[in-house]
Amino acid sequence: MTAQNSRTTGSVSTGSVTLVGGGPGAAGLLTVAAVTAIAQADVVLFDRLAPNDELALLAPHAVLIDVGKRAGSHPVSQTGIEELIVEHALAGKRVVRFKGGDPYVFGRGSEEVLACHRNGIPVTVISGVTSAIAVPAAAGIPLTHRGISHAFTVISGHAPLTDNELEGLTLLGSTIVVLMGVGTLPTLSQGLLRHGMPVGMPVAIIERGFSATQRTTVSTLGTVLADAAAAGVRSPAVLVVGEVVRLAFSGDAAANDLVARAAEFSVTD
Ligand code: SAH
Repeated sequence: MTAQNSRTTGSVSTGSVTLVGGGPGAAGLLTVAAVTAIAQADVVLFDRLAPNDELALLAPHAVLIDVGKRAGSHPVSQTGIEELIVEHALAGKRVVRFKGGDPYVFGRGSEEVLACHRNGIPVTVISGVTSAIAVPAAAGIPLTHRGISHAFTVISGHAPLTDNELEGLTLLGSTIVVLMGVGTLPTLSQGLLRHGMPVGMPVAIIERGFSATQRTTVSTLGTVLADAAAAGVRSPAVLVVGEVVRLAFSGDAAANDLVARAAEFSVTD
């Protein structure tokens, strides 16, 4: 433990906490900093969506604790996770909190950082590759393309969006990425249509990105509910709403046309 990472309270030396973003599920998308932090850990608390397959190899000296979250049921509550992190760190351990994607993208990472601050525990955050960008990319979908979309909004579908938010997204007219959005797909699609988004707007749903069973369902705003139901779409999935979805099909006529029109927008390099 370095002097920077340790703190002495009375006779017990306080450990440290590192929140590690594990990326979207592919071991190759772990950062070097993530691998280094895991290798040095005494305790690793991990999630369902973190790339856990090789955790025992990466953390040979650590106690591994599964605090895995599943949709609808949390084996360990968020408060329970924070208590575990704090308890192990106060006992002098180097704690890694290993999370899926990036710790600060809907990962409740900031709540865990605040819990460390409240208890005087040194904490660092190692950013991870977020599923919001990497999972669409794994399906061939870029979130931006010059002349097609120059912004993207990443939203949580955990709760339905308000009318103001739906209107704002429709007016913005750029790429929309939704995490945790399978359950609220009906209110999202109907809401965007109600605010004037075209029925033909492409939508992609990418399930289980980077796994052997990764699957992409491509649809439009007008038909996505029926298509998602027919395909039996389930969480975890990333939803993409926007013209960029067509770029996954370079070579087909609609995609070629879109790219040709986009090129006309480009005034300078
Ligand atoms: N912090 C994470 C997101 C946590 S919220 C990140 O940055 O990626 C959990 C949601 O992320 C899931 O419901 C799903 O929408 C998305 N997700 C994470 N990994 C995924 C994967 N491999 N495939 C599809 N969706 C994924």
